[in-house]
Amino acid sequence: KTVLLSIELIDFGDVPCALNIINDITERKRLENEFISLVSHELRTPMNSLIGALDLLSTGQLGSLTDKGKQILEIATTNTERLIRLVNDILDLERMKSGKITMRKTNCNIGQLMIQATEVMQSMAESAKIQLDVQPYSTDVWADPDRILQTLTNLLSNAIKFSEPGQTVWMTAKRTMLLLNSSENLSSVEQPDCLLIEVTDRGRGIPADKLQSIFERFQQVDASDSRKKGGTGLGLAICRNIIEQHGGQIWVESTLGQGSTFYVSLPLQSSLPT
Ligand code: ADP
Repeated sequence: KTVLLSIELIDFGDVPCALNIINDITERKRLENEFISLVSHELRTPMNSLIGALDLLSTGQLGSLTDKGKQILEIATTNTERLIRLVNDILDLERMKSGKITMRKTNCNIGQLMIQATEVMQSMAESAKIQLDVQPYSTDVWADPDRILQTLTNLLSNAIKFSEPGQTVWMTAKRTMLLLNSSENLSSVEQPDCLLIEVTDRGRGIPADKLQSIFERFQQVDASDSRKKGGTGLGLAICRNIIEQHGGQIWVESTLGQGSTFYVSLPLQSSLPT
C-alpha cells in the first residue's frame, strides 16, 4: 500500500526518482523488520532469566512476602509473561514471513484438532464464564496440525476475550464450495472443494473499517486492547500467514455490538500431496 501511494504522489516524468523512493521504502521496511527481530531475539534471554527470578520469589524460598509484595509480584509476573508472548509472536511471524519456518504438513483429522483446541481453551472459557459449543467435523486435511491448532486456539481465545460472561462461543466446520475474493488482486478465486471452519461469538463485534486491518500485525480495534485483554495484536497476522501457507483464506464478518464470525477455508483436494 505504501509503495503504491508514493507512486501516485510523485511526478512520473522523473522515473529514476520514483524508483529511488520505492527502493528507500522497501529498504526501510526491511531494516525495520530486521531491527524488530534482532531486538526481540536479544530480549528473550534476559526475560527468561527474569521469569526464573520471579518464580523463585513466588516459591517463598527467599523468605515470605507481605500481601502487598505478593500483589506486586503477581503484576510483574503477568507483565513479564505478556512480554515473552509478544517477543515469541514477533519472532514466529518474522520467521514465517521469511520462509525460515515451513509448514510440516501431514494427513490430519480436522475434527480431532477442533476437539483439541476446545480442550486447550476450556479453562480460559471457564474462568471467563463462557460456554464453548463445538461441533467437530471429521475429515482429513493435508496440513500442519500444530499450526492449525494454533490458529483455532487463537480464534477461540479472541472470541472468549471479546464476549461477555454467560455468552456462548461456537465452532463448526463443513465441506463446501466457495467463490472467494482474493484480497491481493480483487479477482474471484474458486475453491471448489474446501473445508470451511467458523468461529462465532456474540461479543462486542468489530467496526466495518477494521475488518481487514485486524489481520495486519499490531492492529487492534482499540489501542487499550493489548493492556486490558492481554493480547499482542499479532495473533491474527500469524493465523493469516499460517492459513495462506496452506492455500486457504481467513476473513471475518461482524456486526458491531452483536458479534463476529471468523471463517477459515482450507482447500481439500488440491492440498493433497502430489
Ligand atoms: P490480540 O492479541 O490483540 O488479540 P489479534 O491479532 O488476535 O491480536 O487480534 C487483533 C484485534 O482484533 C484484537 O485486539 C481486537 O481488537 C480485534 N478482535 C479479534 N478478534 C475479535 C473478536 N472475536 N471480537 C472482537 N474483536 C476482535
